[in-house]
Amino acid sequence: MGATLDALLRLQEIEKQLVEYRRGIESRRRQVRGATRRMEKALQEHQDTNARIRDRQSHADALDLEIKSRDAQTARLREALNRAKSNREYAAILTQINTAKADTTKQEEQALHIMSEVEAVREQAKVQLEQAEKERKRLISLEEAFAEHMAAVQVKIDELQAKRDQAFEDLPREIVNIFERVSARHEGEVLATVVQENPRRQEFSCGGCSMAVTLEQVNRLQDRNEIVTCNVCGRILFIPL
Ligand SMILES: [Zn+2]
Repeated sequence: MGATLDALLRLQEIEKQLVEYRRGIESRRRQVRGATRRMEKALQEHQDTNARIRDRQSHADALDLEIKSRDAQTARLREALNRAKSNREYAAILTQINTAKADTTKQEEQALHIMSEVEAVREQAKVQLEQAEKERKRLISLEEAFAEHMAAVQVKIDELQAKRDQAFEDLPREIVNIFERVSARHEGEVLATVVQENPRRQEFSCGGCSMAVTLEQVNRLQDRNEIVTCNVCGRILFIPL
């Protein structure tokens, strides 16, 4: 299989370069996907924090409303206090006023606590937004680098593919089928040498997967000029000169 072997070796070189380009593209694509995920995560965290701020803020607003309505009620109680007709009535109203005062003090403290909490969470939201912005910039620069890389390698990939198509035309369909199948399985490594384990013994193995190659396979390769594939990994075997 001299001429065929040469053609296959050249094809393998082309295929390996194509695989290398595809790997480069895939790794850049993965970087872009990773950066997209990081940016989305940062934005989501920022939104979650904003939702927490709104939630705490509305709790503080509700407390404020309660305090105001109680203040109005207390004002009315003070007027009633002035109009009290007995000591007993006076004492009862006074108790109500004091209870209201205690409730208000408690709620004011709560509201104050919430507001200081909100302040801290706002700071956190700010940091998160800055982080999201940083991730967005990183993503944009990765996307630009990816587009540049694609533009640069696409020409080379097209050239290689044209060369490969040309080489395929000169080979029998059945060999092309084997080549494509093995290439897909082993990322462009289609051929494997037959390795003689020991110069004194007729023991051979596949240079691709190291599994045994039979003497019968070696004979077929040497004598009958056939395409012989490894029984284990499927690579096309050849005997190096
Ligand atoms: Zn093998």
